Amino acid sequence: NAYMEKILRQRSLQMRDQQQAWQESPEGRRMLEFRRSLPAYKKKEAILSVISRNQVVIISGETGCGKTTQIPQFILESEVESVCGAACNIICTQPRRISAMSVSERVASERGEKLGESVGYKVRLEGMKGRDTHLLFCTTGILLRRLLADRKLKGVTHVIVDEIHERGMNEDFLLIILKELLPHRPELKLILMSATLDAELFSSYFNGAPIMFIPGFTYPVRTHFLENILEMTGYRLTPYNQIDDYGQERMWKMNKHAPRKRKSQIASAVEDAIMAADFKDYSLQTQESLSCWNPDCIGFSLIEYILCNICENERPGAVLVFMTGWDDISSLKEKLLTHTVLGDANRVLLLTCHGSMASSEQRLIFEEPEDGVRKIVLTTNIAETSITINDVVFVLDCGKAKETSYDALNNTPCLLPTWISKVSAKQRRGRAGRVQPGECYHLYPRCVYDAFAEYQLPEILRTPLQSLCLQIKSLRLGSISEFLSRALQSPETLVVQNAIEYLKIIGALDEDENLTILGRCLTMLPMEPKLGKMLILGAIFNCLDPILTVVAGLSVRDPFLTPLDKRDLAEEAKSQFCGAYSDHLALVRAYEGWRDAEMDLGGYEYCWKNFLSSQSMKAIDALRREFICLVKDIGLVDSNTASCNEWSSDVNLIRAIICYGLYPGICSVVHNEKSFSLKTMEDGQVLLYSLCLIQWCFCLVEAY
Ligand code: ADP
Ligand code: MG
Repeated sequence: NAYMEKILRQRSLQMRDQQQAWQESPEGRRMLEFRRSLPAYKKKEAILSVISRNQVVIISGETGCGKTTQIPQFILESEVESVCGAACNIICTQPRRISAMSVSERVASERGEKLGESVGYKVRLEGMKGRDTHLLFCTTGILLRRLLADRKLKGVTHVIVDEIHERGMNEDFLLIILKELLPHRPELKLILMSATLDAELFSSYFNGAPIMFIPGFTYPVRTHFLENILEMTGYRLTPYNQIDDYGQERMWKMNKHAPRKRKSQIASAVEDAIMAADFKDYSLQTQESLSCWNPDCIGFSLIEYILCNICENERPGAVLVFMTGWDDISSLKEKLLTHTVLGDANRVLLLTCHGSMASSEQRLIFEEPEDGVRKIVLTTNIAETSITINDVVFVLDCGKAKETSYDALNNTPCLLPTWISKVSAKQRRGRAGRVQPGECYHLYPRCVYDAFAEYQLPEILRTPLQSLCLQIKSLRLGSISEFLSRALQSPETLVVQNAIEYLKIIGALDEDENLTILGRCLTMLPMEPKLGKMLILGAIFNCLDPILTVVAGLSVRDPFLTPLDKRDLAEEAKSQFCGAYSDHLALVRAYEGWRDAEMDLGGYEYCWKNFLSSQSMKAIDALRREFICLVKDIGLVDSNTASCNEWSSDVNLIRAIICYGLYPGICSVVHNEKSFSLKTMEDGQVLLYSLCLIQWCFCLVEAY
């Protein structure tokens, strides 16, 4: 022990000297100056003191104030100062892989180090962590996995759970486990970090843990709602037929109120889109306004219009465009690039920001462009809180984000564009005022904003719980229902029961709610159980190659495109792949064709000819690669298997596996003389017509 202590001490001293040398170098001094300018830095001593006096601390502060990059560093630095640096072991979890990676890189560079020295990261299938890593950024999923092997988190001194306000499923799950663990590990410190107000909720969950607020500063941001934006295009959105002041029977209509300032292609596109949106029928009352307002009608044209306006007339400053999802981002990017609507291409730097971007692209986002060049970043809600781009002055907000939701009655999970909450809209707006007064354009009317929910529903209350239930079991946390009743906000009993029932039916749990061997394998595959099951069967029955495509295809947007004006041609193109009357197999064929074409660099042309989305094909290709690593990782196939070419392509076998994977979400078609009906496979129940349709779309079972 004395020997160990001596080594640790030596190592800590070394760390301290290294840091001192770095902070005295010109680059290090500049970095320190930047860090000192952050609001979190001004609270450094207070933060360290409250952490040293309490086991659990909640830290809340405006996005960009330095929580993620500074607070873990403060802890590390103070340990290094007190010559305990080599003994501390800090884990900081992030909800997304991309933030774990980008933040660790940033923190390492702030310390003048390479990644993998004292600062590292670990995400699924990737990581950079060395013997001397004392601060590890990882996804929440990685920490949960670690808990699987090491229930007490031996050797860990600090756990920091970041972005808890997002209320992701994994974070809520982790908090239940950590709450249990704390009394058994009195020396372990838990720090929860959150961007917005909910801090009291967490504090009361952890028996009144102290909350530390970091005051932030933002410049004023001028807010434009759709009605103000439309005025720019020469229209006015005015109420008519207004009956009383309480909004009864309020209708709106569009008037052309002034000669347009500028007649351009975009202005007329906006005009068309506005006409198509048919404001006259648009009643603006209560929650209903959310469902009848369709931003897609205005969509891209309006975004183009505003971007154009900013590029031509506005002061310097980056533009951040919040869009619904990756598919919208890539189509808009393509449109902006091919039509060069933004004028001189050399004066615009068009970037995208989303969960799966490459790290080279990540770095560009943070860099300030040359003088006279306008940086425009198209982003998902990831830039709402977890990534801060400093030089943003203009924000465009489409008002939507993709979120997983769950219909407990029909047992159907879905990833759908949904309206954001008021808190999210405020976050998006706030991004514009970090360096100087900014402008925010919300692409929806004020009344739609008024109908937004205050907060987003926590993920645990809106998504399928199947994977979570498996995890609870694999961590041996006892009865699923009992465990979930201890959550910050517990899901409904019916939803929990449905999930358990489903897992029993597919054979992942036995009657007594114990994990079966299949269940155990599924816990190692971070995806929906039905997809995991297909992969496992694909590996066992030696037809992994097509199954990889099917599973990847079920995880991305349908690659078969049907443009409204060319529906017949598109359907004809698809039918050539449909020899076996199966959408899944059509996808397998389409992908195989694409793969061959892509090898001769003709992938794009192939997609164009066959009405396929090149984006989706690439996404499927990337996911396949990820999945094969996973399957190799858990030892289902030999890790030396170089290619998938030796796999069987027996159509009947593949169909059987797809069916078995989707079971019990499948039904059989019963042909009567004149019509047909659908029966579930499980209990032979004849489905209602509307439910039929849902099931029909869901798994297209006719052929099976
Ligand atoms: P918070 O977690 O409170 O939202 P962060 O610690 O992520 O804030 O960021 C603090 C500051 O560091 C921000 O002003 C941000 O712009 C800057 N920053 C963070 N990551 C990077 C990066 N990779 N490159 C440049 N600046 C960064
Ligand atoms: Mg942060």
